[in-house]
Amino acid sequence: MVKITGTTQILAVIGDPVKHSFSPLMHNAAIAQMALDYVYVALPITATDLADAVRGFETIGLVGFNITIPHKQAILPLLSEVSDVAQAVGAVNTVRWTGSGWAGTNTDVEGFLSPLVAMEKDWSQTSAVVLGNGGAARAVVAGCAQLGCAEVHVVGRSAEKLAAFEQSWAGSAFGQNLQVHTWDALGELMPGAGLVVNTTPVGMSPKVEASPVSQEVMTKMQAGAIAYDLIYVPNPTRFLREAQAQGAIVLDGLEMLVQQGAAALRIWTGGEVPVDVMRKTLKGHLGL
Ligand code: NAP
Repeated sequence: MVKITGTTQILAVIGDPVKHSFSPLMHNAAIAQMALDYVYVALPITATDLADAVRGFETIGLVGFNITIPHKQAILPLLSEVSDVAQAVGAVNTVRWTGSGWAGTNTDVEGFLSPLVAMEKDWSQTSAVVLGNGGAARAVVAGCAQLGCAEVHVVGRSAEKLAAFEQSWAGSAFGQNLQVHTWDALGELMPGAGLVVNTTPVGMSPKVEASPVSQEVMTKMQAGAIAYDLIYVPNPTRFLREAQAQGAIVLDGLEMLVQQGAAALRIWTGGEVPVDVMRKTLKGHLGL
């Protein structure tokens, strides 16, 4: 249990809504293990109250905070520093007080990368296929660029949204090998893909029998390719089950969730973070 005293410092997650966030559970378990005089709370903040709230956080001396929907972009003008990766993604999920302003970054990229980096693979010949072109896809594209993937193909439903997505990376070092396609191109992309990442919500509970990829296209997935689903419930998803049947290596979204939180806690505390405690707490809560 976190012990709250007169000196306890505050960390938070802000969003609207925020009551379903797993972050307080995961972070407070780690804080207790680290024996830090911190507490992590969820604060519902509406879009119109965001600027006032952030000014208030300075007044009450918050150490830092996480940001979830719908503030990940809106927070940007309220920050005094934004990391290169957060600028490229166009979204901030972690902020810390520097002593003179708020510095923001995006730990979703580090969270996404964590299980891939652990594979100690050479990615320079890998073609990555990213399913979906929403917020999470942006972190995945930046992550694939950091890995050094030879090609990054983003597949989406709307040619208009895809064009805007592609345009938003123009001139960014993180968007160099990016190409966008509509879903009908997936059958041709799949045989050459070494990494296939689902960033769509298709297959998420309760519609667990859905998959973003048709059975016919799944048969084109290479044995030995990596199939990564950002969804963490159900675990595994139908996409991952079918990928495994093809001989793919499968990764689920739980580790990304844990590692983006661990990366944030590292930024705030500078200390070694008990990632295993965070993972175990989350798994217990989700019944995994
Ligand atoms: P988002 O911004 O709403 O983007 C969702 C994307 O999926 C959009 O490109 C959307 O296409 C596409 N999509 C939605 N329904 C589809 C369908 N039926 N068929 C094909 N494409 C479809 O959401 P997000 O924030 O990126 O989150 C996406 C998923 O990632 C969620 O399941 C979320 O839980 C998961 N996630 C996991 C983590 C983690 O830590 N593990 C972190 C972030 C997100 P349109 O643009 O055409 O609408």
